[in-house]
Amino acid sequence: MLKALANLFSIFSTDLAIDLGTANTLVYQLGKGITINEPSVVAILNDGSGNRRILAVGHEAKAMIGKTPDHIMAIRPIKDGVIADFSTTEAMLKYFIAKAHNRKTLVRPRIIICIPSGVTEVERRAVEESALSAGAREVYLVEEPIAAAIGADMPITDPSGNMVVDIGGGTTEVAVISLGGIVISKSVRIAGDKMDEAILNYLKKKYSLLVGEIMSEQIKIRVGDAYPVEQPSSMEVKGRDLVRGVPRTITVTSTEIREALQEPIRAIVDAVKSTLEKTPPELAADIYDRGIVLTGGGALLRGLDKLINKETGLPVQKAEDPLACVVLGSGKILDQFDHLKRLLVTR
Ligand code: ADP
Ligand code: MG
Repeated sequence: MLKALANLFSIFSTDLAIDLGTANTLVYQLGKGITINEPSVVAILNDGSGNRRILAVGHEAKAMIGKTPDHIMAIRPIKDGVIADFSTTEAMLKYFIAKAHNRKTLVRPRIIICIPSGVTEVERRAVEESALSAGAREVYLVEEPIAAAIGADMPITDPSGNMVVDIGGGTTEVAVISLGGIVISKSVRIAGDKMDEAILNYLKKKYSLLVGEIMSEQIKIRVGDAYPVEQPSSMEVKGRDLVRGVPRTITVTSTEIREALQEPIRAIVDAVKSTLEKTPPELAADIYDRGIVLTGGGALLRGLDKLINKETGLPVQKAEDPLACVVLGSGKILDQFDHLKRLLVTR
């Protein structure tokens, strides 16, 4: 009966959980699940007199990256997991919140929003303030590794070691969680974006071919791997020949891209290893039994689980839906607020 009432209440609730990521923003709504999943990109029109107008947000804005004339900018306002451009972040949040509520802008929801572990007080405040000025009535914060682990169904409130590795666009966060709290964590600013950059630089150096950032991301997703787990593959890549200045098409292989990705992949593996080295022995023993769970879009890179398994000797598992873990975990806290609110960041 109580549960039915709670469910009924949730249908009318306007409360949201938001994963404000470097690459993607996802929104979870009580009673509805994930209702927004779009790139964290804003296209801004500069009219020349210093006035800025939002032209597009999300998918539409991402499609403009690398194709904008001088007076339009496609901006990614979150860098390395933290707000780099406050007013654009606020505008983006406002847009997504309004979209979640079918543009009923009068709604002032309670919002749970994620922050990377180990951000500074100032960076944390910025997230809070941007959500408040985007229309939130109350803002609660949750650390991303906690949210990711809940979203991946890890038993993090047990008195046992759980290791989660969240590989996003800007940062890789490695954390060991026990009894609902982070025991040890490491955040490195090397993740999906650095992989794209590595591919771009590789093609520039090896073929004198300049490709855009969207193209290099596509190469990573289509033929990239961290360890050869599938048959070698290849794809055609279009870019600009840096010597002759004309468009040119080449074929790249998965083997080449693996070579290109070596440096960022190495850094991610090292972050996992150094965290394991600092993990208290009792918790390390649990991780030895349960293994490591990978979340975030970077977890989808082929063979990354296999490589980390080889390098650490521990079982490694990709979460079921790596891109959604953080928002699903924050959504679960929203769903079971009274029971799980102790997992939120306290002030
Ligand atoms: P963030 O939380 O920082 O917004 P996400 O968890 O949404 O990041 O992950 C985005 C990153 O995952 C991007 O760098 C994207 O290129 C990468 N990604 C998405 N799908 C794949 C894939 N299939 N293989 C490799 N990388 C992927
Ligand atoms: Mg993320």
